[in-house]
Amino acid sequence: MIIQLKSNIDPAQKEAIIKKVNSFKFETNEVVTQKGSYLIGIGTKEFDIRQIGNMPGIADIHIVSDSYKLVSRKWKVKPTIIDLGDGVTVGQGSLAIMAGPCSIEGEEQIVETIAHLKANGIKIMRGGVYKPRSSPYAFRGMGIDGLKIWYKHAKAAGIKIVTEVMQVSQIEPMLDFVDVFQVGARNTQNFNLLDALGKIDKTVMIKRGISGTIDELLYSAEYVFSGGNEKLILCERGIRTYEKASRNTLDLNAIPILKEKTHLPVIADPSHGIGIRRHVAAMALASIMAGADGIIYETHSNPYKALSDGQQTLDFRESEKLCKRMKAAYELLSSF
Ligand code: PEP
Ligand code: MN
Repeated sequence: MIIQLKSNIDPAQKEAIIKKVNSFKFETNEVVTQKGSYLIGIGTKEFDIRQIGNMPGIADIHIVSDSYKLVSRKWKVKPTIIDLGDGVTVGQGSLAIMAGPCSIEGEEQIVETIAHLKANGIKIMRGGVYKPRSSPYAFRGMGIDGLKIWYKHAKAAGIKIVTEVMQVSQIEPMLDFVDVFQVGARNTQNFNLLDALGKIDKTVMIKRGISGTIDELLYSAEYVFSGGNEKLILCERGIRTYEKASRNTLDLNAIPILKEKTHLPVIADPSHGIGIRRHVAAMALASIMAGADGIIYETHSNPYKALSDGQQTLDFRESEKLCKRMKAAYELLSSF
């Protein structure tokens, strides 16, 4: 059960609601986010919510049978649209395109990538400054100094930044230079990180874990939401299966299933999803047809020289072509 409290509720009214809910053998957890205050009631017995629905201080109340609550569509039917400012949104009604290199490698690369994005109307740039690499000897990113250089150019060009945060201690130093914090597939169930991201007022994009189920991804989002941060995007990025022909298996099924289960925007990452450059476009277009609210993909002026994930990275010519096709696909879908 979720009870949304009125913003002007007085403490005595809140106390009375909690007492009443507890009397039905429901435990209450209070959640305060940027957008509202909620009481999450957890209990096993059914009861008629009309018994408390008209108590003073209650704005809205629903029984939500899913084990995740606040991210459930049973709580909020209307899709959430994330507003990144300057007219840049992610969610129902538009296709969000996020593109850029796997890793931020230097100023020249930043400048040429931004020029490419601008030329193609892409408003969100991806790139890692902290890179989770399977081998400790591989390039692990430019860190906060790289992020600051990137921010300087992105800000001047009106481009938003999505980048991965790998640990709690990185959040604070990164905060002023990031528009969307990415939680990588290796960190989807890093609950300390999720708790900490619940405390900030910045959008968080959570990628599906390498072996994570759809429900586990929703639980991860519930961690951040219940920590106080409603600004969330989910990303299907492929899961590990027995198949060896592709790097991962982009789970297209997850897109309509997630869109049905949650009100949060759902985007897809075909680059990591298939891991093979020549097939990235097909999976991007398929994801749009499956209902994705956006696509995040890797592009680089010279993928053969990229310091990470070159094998799945599009060059700018391929990226431009994909961009046009994605917009056409999205329009086609929206026209029916
Ligand atoms: C990335 O976006 O470059 C990345 C490392 O993603 P993932 O966490 O999905 O592997
Ligand atoms: Mn990558």
